[in-house]
Amino acid sequence: MAEVPTVGPPGPPAQRAAAEKVLCDACPVLCHIAPGRTGACDRYGNINGVLTRAEPLALAHRPVENAEPELFVTGLGAGTNYPDYKPAPFIVSSRHQGVDMVTAVTEGIFSYCSFKVKIDTDRYIGPEQANVRHRGETIGHVTTAEYGSQMLSLGGVHHLTGGSRKEGREACDLMAALGNRYAVELEIDGGAALVVQAGQAPIVNGVRETRMRVGCGSATIGIFAKQWHGQVDEVIVVDDQITGVLSEHQAGRFLGMVPSGVELKGRRSTPGRYFQVANPGTGWGGTDIQDPLSIIVGFDKAHSWPGLRLLMVSTTGEHSSYFVLDEALRPQSAPMPPALQRVVERIAENCEPALCSVLFIGGAGGSLRAGITESPVRLTNSIKDALVNVTCGGAPTYIWPGGGITVMVDVARMPANSFGTVPTPAIVAPMEFTMRLSDYAALGGHMDAIIPLSEAVSRASKRLIELHPENPWPIVGPKVPSE
Ligand code: SF4
Repeated sequence: MAEVPTVGPPGPPAQRAAAEKVLCDACPVLCHIAPGRTGACDRYGNINGVLTRAEPLALAHRPVENAEPELFVTGLGAGTNYPDYKPAPFIVSSRHQGVDMVTAVTEGIFSYCSFKVKIDTDRYIGPEQANVRHRGETIGHVTTAEYGSQMLSLGGVHHLTGGSRKEGREACDLMAALGNRYAVELEIDGGAALVVQAGQAPIVNGVRETRMRVGCGSATIGIFAKQWHGQVDEVIVVDDQITGVLSEHQAGRFLGMVPSGVELKGRRSTPGRYFQVANPGTGWGGTDIQDPLSIIVGFDKAHSWPGLRLLMVSTTGEHSSYFVLDEALRPQSAPMPPALQRVVERIAENCEPALCSVLFIGGAGGSLRAGITESPVRLTNSIKDALVNVTCGGAPTYIWPGGGITVMVDVARMPANSFGTVPTPAIVAPMEFTMRLSDYAALGGHMDAIIPLSEAVSRASKRLIELHPENPWPIVGPKVPSE
C-alpha cells in the first residue's frame, strides 16, 4: 500500500486542521479527507494521517496437496493508480510450475462500461429500443431479443456523462448494484416493470418467472412431433415470434400427418411456421392472448372434419388447452387425454429455470493500460496474442476482437461486491493482468515496481477469498504457455 503524506506543513490552528486532511488522488475527484473519515466514494479513508484503501486487499487462495495454499492477488481492495502513468497498485511476481510470472492488479475506473442483461422469459417486456428507467431516470434500453430471452443494455457512457447529473448518478448506482448482484427495479417505457438480479429468476409485472421456454413454436413442434403423433390430429404451439402448426410443419409431414385445415391469423413464413399471430404480451407464449382460439381464423371445410382433435399449447407448457371440432367445425373444449397431458408436462420438464444473467463490459482506458506498461498498445497486442490472461476479481473474461481492450465478464463469477463507484460518475471494477515475467518485460512493463508475492501479502491489510468453483485458477489459464 502506498503511503501518502499528510498535506501541507504545520501552521496556525486553522491551517493545521486543514493539514490533518489527506489528499486522495486515486481519481479525478481529489477528495481532501479529514482524519477518521472516508472520501466521497467511501473507498479511501484517512487513517492516522495516511490515505488508506478502506477495504482489505482480497487474496484468492486454493489448497494445494502437501504444500502451502496458492495465493492470487486480485484487484479487489488493491486501489487505483491515478493519474494514469503511475504503476498499478500491485505488480506482483510469483513462480508457477517453474515459470516466473507477474500479475499486475488494479481497481479500474470505467467511464466506458455497461451491463448486458439476459432475462429468460417469453413475456413481452417492452418494444425494442424502448428506454429502461430506474427511479424515473433513463439508464438503458431494450435491445435485440435472443432465443427465449429478453435483453437489456444498461448504463454506459451516454447515460453516465451525456445526460443530467441525476441521470448519471442513477445510472452509476444502478450499475454498481446490478454488478454486485443486488435486486434492482426497472421500468420500461411502454412495457413491463421488472425486478432483475444476477443469478435469480426475473420478476415481470410482479410475477416471478419460473421457466425458460424449450424452444420457439416451430422448434417445439420439431422436438415433440413424434410424441404427439397418433394422439392428436393437430397441435398449435403458440409463440409470439414463430407459432408452429404440426400437420403443416415439416415434422408432421414427415410423420405422414394429413392437413387439418386450420387457418391462423398472422403471416405464414414457411409451411407450419407463422409470424405475428397476435401482439406481444404476457399471455400465451409471449403473446397478448388469454384465449388461444383467438388466433384461429377458422377451419377449411375441404380438409377439416368433425371430431378433429386439437391441442393448443405454449412454448413453456405453462398454458395448454384441448379441443374437439363439433359438427359445425367449431372447436369445443374437452378434457385433455392423459397421453397428451404427459407430453405437455414434458415440455415443462424440458424448460430450464428462468434466470437473469448479468455481464459487465468495460473498456480499459488510461490508468488501466498505463498502470501496466509504458506502451499501452503492446499490452493490447499481448492480450490479443493470448500472452496475457485478463481476469476480473479472478473471474475469466472475454476480450472483444478488434481494437482496444474491451473486456466482458459474468458478474456471477466475480467475488461478492466487486464493484464500486466514484462520483465522477464512473464504475470501479477489479482487474488483473497475469503473464510471464519475460513477456511483461517485453511489453515495457513497470519492472521497477514489481514486488514479490510475499511482500504484497505482508504489506497489505488483507482477506482471503475463494474464487467461484467454476473459475480456472487465474495463473494456470490456457493462455499461459507451459514450458
Ligand atoms: S472519490 Fe474516492 S477515489 Fe476519488 S478522490 Fe475521493 S476518495 Fe479518492
